[in-house]
Amino acid sequence: MNVAAILRLKGRGVVTTTKDKSLLDIAKLLEQHGIGCIVIEGDNGKVAGIVSERDLMRAIGQSGPKVLKEPVSDFMTKTVVTAREADPIDRLMSEMTTHRFRHMPVVERGRLMGLVSLGDVVKMRIAEVEMETTATREYAGYCQEEGYHPILPQSMPHTMAGLGTKADQVEGRSDVSY
Ligand code: AMP
Repeated sequence: MNVAAILRLKGRGVVTTTKDKSLLDIAKLLEQHGIGCIVIEGDNGKVAGIVSERDLMRAIGQSGPKVLKEPVSDFMTKTVVTAREADPIDRLMSEMTTHRFRHMPVVERGRLMGLVSLGDVVKMRIAEVEMETTATREYAGYCQEEGYHPILPQSMPHTMAGLGTKADQVEGRSDVSY
């Protein structure tokens, strides 16, 4: 699974604003959209920074509520780690864990294409594991019905491996199951 698969599911919409906006404007945007971070776009439409609820809390905690009048450009993170659509989700998980942030804008040829959060990545990973588990169960069920071992080649004498197969049952080993 890769970033493109996540964007296909969640869409490409990203809430953005400009760096002249105040921290109060940012707080309002976060609240209105029910999100945790805003991408700040530069003059040329490129990503100029990112600001999350954590930056907002830090600013208020350090300077008090008067800081809400200040421009976001003074508080945003300017060196933004971005993802590409072809990136596997494991890469995003590792970047987010290493840098301790929960959001990654997706950028292709300088253009903002979407945003992936840690929640999106976890949701996708869970769906992936569930699909793998279902497929494995179905395959094991099919093998059991057909009398094949799910892993050993059909030609291998199953009784040697001591694993539950039709061959075991023929020899009266119905106590063994898989
Ligand atoms: P978050 O976990 O997204 O709330 O962000 C935690 C901190 O990391 C905040 O200071 C953000 O500005 C910063 N941050 C969030 N996402 C990124 C990113 N993709 N690249 C660089 N910094 C980020």
